[in-house]
Amino acid sequence: EPTLSGDFAKLMGWADQYRRLKVRTNADSPADSKRARDFGAEGIGLCRTEHMFFEGDRITHMRAMILAETEKDRRAALKKLLPFQRKDFEGIFKAMNGLPVTVRLLDPPLHEFLPHEDKAQKEMAQELGVKPSEVKQRTESLHESNPMLGHRGCRLSVTYPEILEMQVRAIVEAAIRCANKNIDAQPEIMIPLVGTAAELRVLRERVEAVIEEVVAQKKFEGKLNILIGTMIEIPRAALTADEVAEYADFFSFGTNDLTQMTFGYSRDDVNTFLPDYLDNDLLNVDPFQSLDTTGVGQLVEMGVTKGRSVKKKLKVGICGEHGGDPSSIDFCNQVGLDYVSCSPFRVPIARLAAAQAALNAEK
Ligand code: PEP
Ligand code: MG
Repeated sequence: EPTLSGDFAKLMGWADQYRRLKVRTNADSPADSKRARDFGAEGIGLCRTEHMFFEGDRITHMRAMILAETEKDRRAALKKLLPFQRKDFEGIFKAMNGLPVTVRLLDPPLHEFLPHEDKAQKEMAQELGVKPSEVKQRTESLHESNPMLGHRGCRLSVTYPEILEMQVRAIVEAAIRCANKNIDAQPEIMIPLVGTAAELRVLRERVEAVIEEVVAQKKFEGKLNILIGTMIEIPRAALTADEVAEYADFFSFGTNDLTQMTFGYSRDDVNTFLPDYLDNDLLNVDPFQSLDTTGVGQLVEMGVTKGRSVKKKLKVGICGEHGGDPSSIDFCNQVGLDYVSCSPFRVPIARLAAAQAALNAEK
């Protein structure tokens, strides 16, 4: 396991004396969490829960959930997923003992989970007790023209509140188990792809209701103090950040989606025309790698200013790829973010870049 030691650790220690930005990590497993913590991560800024459903039996239950035609069937599949989720969260909270962990509610482009191949359709037919043609037909009925702009993020929770309920229950039950073992879990529940304050208002109420219900059922008497916040990754959310902030304890900029939607470049096209297109003289950087400070950056700055006009101390971070890119980190420091979040192996670079950014700001 790589960790920081010797002169490198010393250098990092010096950098830490200067930086103002906190550095968190994007991680969705206890192993990644631990690795990032060893590199100096001060919490998790993005735990992408959809990544937890690809392996073993989970993908089957997940597919059954998505292909379900009734709420009852959906709930049955979710019930099977709950123990897995709870265990995942418990492991991550433990690895991050005493540090914040931002768990993002499910945000998959649905097509990634659908059984497209014959073999997978046959398996699902058996699981669901229907004919393969029925699975094929249900899969086709879920086809979306633009999955990245489709039924994902908070839109899923609006349509199927039971998904949100299962995930929040898993988070709260895991946090209670930790508390009972003297582990300091600090979950922050993050709602993705919010475009209107109303979406966040409705979902926040649901999240709060589930937290209360689980605490009562478990007769838990301690304090959990779970924050509820949102991603700012749709331009409209940045433009109306003052309204959105009313219902948010924190913002995290999802600059991958914000870049996609501000430029109108599909993230699904990163393997088609885009690489060549971006590698020309029209743009001097790839905006998916390095934050486009002139355009996308304006939305980030606006989001921070508008959000803090309503809540002066609103906690604000970034969890898109840009959170690990030095020039983007400099911009994040300039606009007053509280933290950046990046992949585990970028944490040391982010610590250095955050220190450099603080020094640049003094000039
Ligand atoms: C983002 O959009 O910047 C983000 C962090 O979320 P994802 O990449 O998972 O859409
Ligand atoms: Mg996103």
